[in-house]
Amino acid sequence: MRAMIVGVHPLAGFDKVLHYRVPEGLRASVVVGSLVRVPVVNTLHLGLVGEIGAPKDFPLERLKSVAQVVYPFPALTPDLLGLARWMAAYYACGTDSVIETMIPAAVRRGAGLKQEKLLAIAHRLSPEELSVLEKKAPQQARLYQFLAQQFRPQSKAMLLARLGQTAAVAKTLVTRGVLREETRRIERLSYVDDHAAGELVAAHPHRLNSEQQAAVDALSRQLDAGKFEVSLLHGVTGSGKTEVYLRAIDVALKAGGGVIFLVPEVALTPQTVARLRSRLETIAGAHRCVVWHSHLSEGERLDGWLALATGEARVVVGARSAVFAPVQNLKLIVVDEEHEPAYKQGETPRYHGRDVAVMRAKMCGAIGLLGSATPSLESFVNAEAGKYRLLQLTERIDSRKLPYIDIVDLRIEALKQRTMPALSGRLVEAMQERLERREQTILFINRRGYSSSMLCKKCGHVEECTHCSIAMTYHRTDETLRCHLCGDQRSAPVRCTKCGAPDIRWRGLGTQRVEEAVRRVLPRARVERMDTDTMSKQNRFREILSQFRAGKIDVLVGTQMIGKGLDFPNVTLVGLVDADISMHVPDFRANERTFQLLVQVAGRAGRGDRAGVVIVQTFTPQADAIQFSRHADFAGFAATELKVRKDFRYPPYRHLIHHLFRGPNPEKVKFFAEQWAKLVEKSLGDRVELRGPSASPIEKIKDAYRWQLWYFTNSVTKVVPELVRLSSQFAWPDDLTQVLDVDPANLV
Ligand code: ADP
Ligand code: ZN
Repeated sequence: MRAMIVGVHPLAGFDKVLHYRVPEGLRASVVVGSLVRVPVVNTLHLGLVGEIGAPKDFPLERLKSVAQVVYPFPALTPDLLGLARWMAAYYACGTDSVIETMIPAAVRRGAGLKQEKLLAIAHRLSPEELSVLEKKAPQQARLYQFLAQQFRPQSKAMLLARLGQTAAVAKTLVTRGVLREETRRIERLSYVDDHAAGELVAAHPHRLNSEQQAAVDALSRQLDAGKFEVSLLHGVTGSGKTEVYLRAIDVALKAGGGVIFLVPEVALTPQTVARLRSRLETIAGAHRCVVWHSHLSEGERLDGWLALATGEARVVVGARSAVFAPVQNLKLIVVDEEHEPAYKQGETPRYHGRDVAVMRAKMCGAIGLLGSATPSLESFVNAEAGKYRLLQLTERIDSRKLPYIDIVDLRIEALKQRTMPALSGRLVEAMQERLERREQTILFINRRGYSSSMLCKKCGHVEECTHCSIAMTYHRTDETLRCHLCGDQRSAPVRCTKCGAPDIRWRGLGTQRVEEAVRRVLPRARVERMDTDTMSKQNRFREILSQFRAGKIDVLVGTQMIGKGLDFPNVTLVGLVDADISMHVPDFRANERTFQLLVQVAGRAGRGDRAGVVIVQTFTPQADAIQFSRHADFAGFAATELKVRKDFRYPPYRHLIHHLFRGPNPEKVKFFAEQWAKLVEKSLGDRVELRGPSASPIEKIKDAYRWQLWYFTNSVTKVVPELVRLSSQFAWPDDLTQVLDVDPANLV
């Protein structure tokens, strides 16, 4: 018999394919995508079978053998393997690192299935048989009768505990053929919260309005055709996009397909998940719905993954990495809030969940559905160019009005109040009105802590982190200065640490300072703050939200984490305390992000029957991002912003690649960044336009100095492999780390 040879990607910290012989006994269970254990040097490592067969004239004699096949089914479906190869080439990382990201750690470790013994009725006793048993062995009769009344097999351990019986009783009945023992996997369901009162997803399907219906019809036709296509669902906030997703999912499942539903991590609140899950399970019928996010325990992750890999579950709802779920016969991938930068992973492999979703859909001939009230300009341009189909929901449900947006010019306010106010007169007045009418207010401020920096009035000294080149944030609750980059903290000084003057000023607003200001002007109001400092415990988060929903809190102050995926009918006022925070950062997407933030935040107001008001405080009321957000004018904003992007040939008109160099010695980092830039310029010529190298906006983080280089290009795939090849030949010093980030989401 001819030898069976496989090419394996070992998960051993290097990116190579090694070949192995498959022993006779394992042949039947090895396929492309199998997770195996293979010897590398002298240790066994996990590996993934990437191909069957060996190159021609391959020296077969010295080949080692595959030692074990971990699961009896492939760990990666063929489309995922193809996707891994594409990602490695596109995002400039090793195929092994992508494979490691795709397969959860518990699965990679080859963890087994946790099993549980069940008892079931094997033979139904006749009334006569039962009465004999009752006399002869009353314990056995009780166990039998209890089980006979249940609809399905019961956990043996639970049953015996409940009836206070020993295993021997069950054993006798099994031996006699009356009962049967089965095993099943124990499933840990995450976030099952029956009492959560989420309003986001209705428990029952709504009658679609005509725009929703048109969108669903278009999607059904695409699903019927079964060819790869991407739709961009642009629907204003409150237009009922979720209902459209659910109907499309319904169609895909009924056609026997599998579905991936991606949401940003922050939107995965227990309420949303519970509701989505119950709706999906009604739709999916017997097919379970798996939930996937970063707070799952290893066991939950393993169970969910196995349920999908074995085809037992066909739907997964999850954050970014759910795009790699081993869903069988994938027919639809939904990406909700597709504009969210959270879809981009900040560490290797630095992939964008939305773009990978589109690529995966393409590889398996599935339908991609990207939804947002404020689409990314990348997706919008694709829709304009006809690459994506544009589906629009222009009306809010029940024709509710979009909230009125009131812009407060803080320059005028500062003159009036003779100081830098946290809350303008207008905002305070509006909050007072809400309090009297027993309505609620949300205040957003996108910075936690008390103030962004500590400035000495006398010498102008600003307290900075000793490890990073940014100002320390003042946290009044525990009188500390904290670095929001590296987490370093020290107690707040009462005098300037440089000149000793006692005149310290706090600049910039944070959640704590806003909370304090609200308590001062509205002493009777019940105020709560919600940011990552208060929310370190998942329970506290739930508690505050449910109190707020129950009307026990009048004003909720928080970072934008409270902006996502929540629906509070009694909130009639939303205040954006400092709209400028997101606008004045050195990022070409600053305007786009500000516009998105404003529109999304405004969408939180007036979701119930009452109209809502949004008050935006800013020093730059004339900015396009602010003006266009007043009527949620996406088209107007996009046209203006795209013109700028086109003039500068910025994304989405070209791709941007960021190259970061960092190390402990600033001169060395600079020197090598410059040498490298020269080499790239020479080798890549006009395939790429270079900007830099220059010092990064934040020059130092955690004691490492940072330089950066930008590449602009029309084709990532023509540039990245070349950069990787050059880099592997370049003599990088040991203490210098360099990182390529393709299509970066945040530039600072
Ligand atoms: P979006 O995601 O577009 O902001 P949602 O999907 O959250 O909007 O829908 C807003 C609200 O409208 C939800 O409470 C939802 O249950 C409800 N809704 C959606 N479609 C309909 C419909 N056809 N009829 C009535 N209510 C609907
Ligand atoms: Zn720091």
